[in-house]
Order: sequence, then C-alpha cells, then structure tokens
Amino acid sequence: MARLALVTGGTRGIGEAICLALRKEGYRVIANYGGNDEAAKAFSDRTGIETRKFDVSNYAEVEQGIAAIVQEHGPIDILVNNAGITRDTTIHKMTPEQWQAVIDTNLTSCFNLSRCVINTMRERGFGRIVNIGSINGQAGQYGQVNYAAAKSGIHGFTKALAQEGAAKGITVNAIAPGYIATDMVRAVPANVLEKIVARIPVGRLGEAEEIARGVVFLVADEAGFITGSTLSINGGQHMY
Ligand code: NDP
Repeated sequence: MARLALVTGGTRGIGEAICLALRKEGYRVIANYGGNDEAAKAFSDRTGIETRKFDVSNYAEVEQGIAAIVQEHGPIDILVNNAGITRDTTIHKMTPEQWQAVIDTNLTSCFNLSRCVINTMRERGFGRIVNIGSINGQAGQYGQVNYAAAKSGIHGFTKALAQEGAAKGITVNAIAPGYIATDMVRAVPANVLEKIVARIPVGRLGEAEEIARGVVFLVADEAGFITGSTLSINGGQHMY
C-alpha cells in the first residue's frame, strides 16, 4: 500500500499545495486543520482529500487525532509539521497570550505530532518528518519575536530529532520558506509587502507549490541520506 502522509494545517495555503503534491506522487494523504471548517470543507470538496480537525497545540487532541487516523488508515509514514500562525506586534505591546499562542501552535505542535508518530516509525524502521520553519526563524523579523523564536526553535528541534531518528530509518528535515503568497502573507499591509518584495532577488513572492516541491523531495524513499538539513526556499532573500 502507498505510504501515508499527514500534513498539519493542510487545508489552506502552503499545506494545501503540499497535500496536492504528495497525492500527485502517489501517497495517501490526510490534511489536518485547526478551526476553519468552511475552508476545510471547500478544500475536501475541491480535492477529495480527507480532513481531520484537531488543535496541534494541544497534546491530548493530537494524541486522539493520530490514534483515530492510525486505526482507520494504518501507521503514518510521513509527517509534515506545517500548521502555523502569526500574532505580530513589537515586544513592548505583545501580550503573554500572543507569545504563548505562537510558541504553542508553531513549535510545541512539532513535539506533539512527532511524539505521537515516532514510536510506530521506530518500530517499522521508516519515517519522514518535515518541519516548516521560516526565513524569519533564520534571520529574525521586526514585530515577530514570538514567531521568530518558535521558527528558530523548529530548526534546533529538527537537528536534534534527526540525530535520534537516524539509526531507525527516520529522517527529519526542515524547510525555511521565504515570503509565499498565502493568506498569512496577504494579511501583511500592502506598503509593508511592497518593501518585502523589493528585497527578494527573484523579484516576486514565492508560490505555495514551490515549497511543496521541497517536501516531495525530502520525503522520498530515496532521500534516506538527507537528514537534519534545512532547505531554504526564499527567492535568494536570505542565504544561510
Ligand atoms: P495559512 O494561514 O494559509 O494556513 C495555516 C494552516 O494552519 C491552516 O490550515 C490552519 O487551519 C492551520 N492551523 C493554524 N492553527 C492550527 C492549529 N492550532 N491546529 C491545527 N491547524 C492549525 O498559512 P501558510 O500556508 O501561509 O503557512 C503554512 C506554514 O508555513 C506555517 O507554519 C507558516 O508559519 C509557514 N511559513 C509561511 C510563510 C508564508 O510566506 N506564507 C513563510 C514562512 C513560513 P485553519 O484553516 O483551521 O485555521
């Protein structure tokens, strides 16, 4: 049977593109989402891909969500930790809630999901985990101490888990996207976005499909020697 992939935050933006690209490669795909039922329904109507609603920041919900998937479809071979949020503001205005929500949704989620799939991956001697970081985790960004800290944490998490998984056939890699044309970036004020695009050597925002291409590459059976790496896909904006 084809390998089973779970993509968190798979119903919109980059996650949707990842789901479609994986399915095109012949994988079985399940898309998780957090709260936007309307977007999830539109996604599954459009694509026919099954969706599962659970909050990636909540360990108990993740545990339950994964158990239900495994019961119905068997073990998860490929995990893409893609779900993420922003709560941008400078630190002197940031509330503890804005800090915590971003850390929990972007970083703690990687622990929650990985923890719940790792044992079956270890037992079966195969696993692929791809964590979606960010250029702003590599370079920092004004107004994003919460987001930059969470994304930077993802890069450390990736390298540590890669070392733990290596002997068990589990690879763990990160992708650090630059600015990609999704709802998240469309929420940035137009004048700020203009300045951002001016700093991208390729001269445009990236497309979600260009991130998905990296995921397909990293999760392949043939990619077993690639682990602990970060693939920057950012139009040349930051070379790390
Ligand atoms: P979108 O805002 O377009 O989509 C976010 C997805 O994550 C949605 O499916 C959303 O579900 C889901 N999600 C959010 N919170 C939770 C939660 N608590 N539990 C489960 N699912 C949740 O984001 P993008 O596609 O732009 O971003 C995807 C990833 O790429 C994120 O990690 C982001 O930080 C990262 N990234 C994006 C960049 C960009 O330029 N767009 C640049 C660098 C990194 P729902 O619809 O239910 O809200």
